[in-house]
Formats: sequence, structure tokens, C-alpha cells
Amino acid sequence: MLMDPQNLPQRVRDVRNRIERAAASGERSVDCVTLLAVSKAQPVELMRAAAALGVRDFGESYLQEALEKMAALREVELTWHFVGRLQANKTRPIAESFAWVHGVDRLKIAERLAAQRPYYAPPLNLCLQVNVAGETAKAGVAPADLPALAAAVAALPRVRLRGLMCIPPEEADAARQRAWFARLRQLLQSLNNSGARLDTLSMGMSADFEAAILEGATIVRVGTALFGPRLANTPPHTGGGRAPPATGTIGAA
Ligand SMILES: *Cc1c(COP(=O)(O)O)cnc(C)c1O
Repeated sequence: MLMDPQNLPQRVRDVRNRIERAAASGERSVDCVTLLAVSKAQPVELMRAAAALGVRDFGESYLQEALEKMAALREVELTWHFVGRLQANKTRPIAESFAWVHGVDRLKIAERLAAQRPYYAPPLNLCLQVNVAGETAKAGVAPADLPALAAAVAALPRVRLRGLMCIPPEEADAARQRAWFARLRQLLQSLNNSGARLDTLSMGMSADFEAAILEGATIVRVGTALFGPRLANTPPHTGGGRAPPATGTIGAA
């Protein structure tokens, strides 16, 4: 069941309040935390309503769906983030239409995005996805391989390496949630200590964004807490997983 659009204002208020409280208890300015509304598998009318409530950043995982929504909402000034799984043969429309790509985890994808970013557009903002827990089912660069990847991506034209992104294991316990996010923050700090200039930690989803804010998240990617359950048959958090083995893409990275 999709959410009744009448519930949206209250949902948006609730999420904003939770962000504010988490920022306050982390002694951080709430202005340093961007709410990225993950609208994959949600109707465009809900997005229009969210935009009317001041939501400006939207995250999509499915390219065709995203392009249709961009066309439907083209009269609204929005910032579009691709948060889905990246396939090399689909980078061109992503490079042409999005402002941000979260979840780059290999150089080949970043090189394609750089080559395909139109010369007239501002640089495409990239976050590198890190597999913080070393989960085999999840995408992301291993922490040990991060420095080399970050250096190579930072040297590419027409893209701008902004920071890191992660989808940690689901943890019910707030302290354990924080530990994963702290790990991503430490990785970012160590890159910056070696001369990188990264300003973005894209971490935290509906179930754990407060913990992420306490550990320094600058972008929280929130879907169901804002929009309710997604349309049936859409996998959760596709940005985080590689395709299932049956499709033969594991290892294609
Ligand atoms: C779907 C998705 C989200 C939002 O997840 P919720 O649990 O609905 O908040 C965040 N990030 C990524 C990469 C996703 O694929």
C-alpha cells in the first residue's frame, strides 16, 4: 500500500525534527546535514508534494524511472542524486542528467562518468561507496583499496570527488550503528590528512540516520520514513547490492 499523500507534511516534519534533534545532540549545525529524499519506487505526485514542502534533493535508483520523473518535474528546481547500482553501460544518461552520484566503487565507472559529463554542465559530484563491513553481497570499495581509488578519481576531469558513502549492516543497536558510521568518518579523515579535500559523508537511512548524524553525516538518504513503503517488487537499498548471482554480474566489477 502506498502512502496517503495527506500524511506527507507530518512525515516531513517528523524527519526534519529527528534530524534537528540528532544534530543538536551531536553539537552540530543542522545546516550541515542535507536531507536527501530517496524517492525510488514512489509516485511522482508524492515528490511534487515533498518539493512544495521545501524538499530539494531527491535520490533515485532506477534510471528509466528517474528520467521520467525529471521530465515530469522539470519546472521545479531540484537536485537529483543517483543512489542506485551503477552499470557501465548506463553511465551516459546518468552523467548527463544527475548532479550527484553516490556509490561509485570502481575507477572504470568514474572514468566513464568523467568522459560522458557534458562540457557545459558543472562538475558531477561523486561519492565513493565503501564496503565498511566487508560484506560480500554489498557493493563498495574495500577500505584498503580506498586511498588509491580516491586519488585516481580525484584526478579525473569534469567530476568532483566530494566524499564517501556507505550502507552498513542493519543493526538494531544505536552504538553498533554508530561504530560503522564512525569507521567511514575515520576513512574520510585519513584521506583528508593525506591531502584530499573531501567534505561529504553520505550515510544514514530511515532506520539509522540519527546515528549517522552523530558521527558526522552531511547527507542522510531517507526513503520510507518520508514516503512510506515503496511499490511492491522493488528491492531494498539497491544501491548497496550487486545484482544477484543469477544475473552473472558478480565479479564483473
Ligand atoms: C533505498 C535507498 C535508501 C533509502 O532507504 P530507506 O530505508 O527507505 O530510508 C538510501 N540509500 C540507498 C542507497 C538506497 O538504495
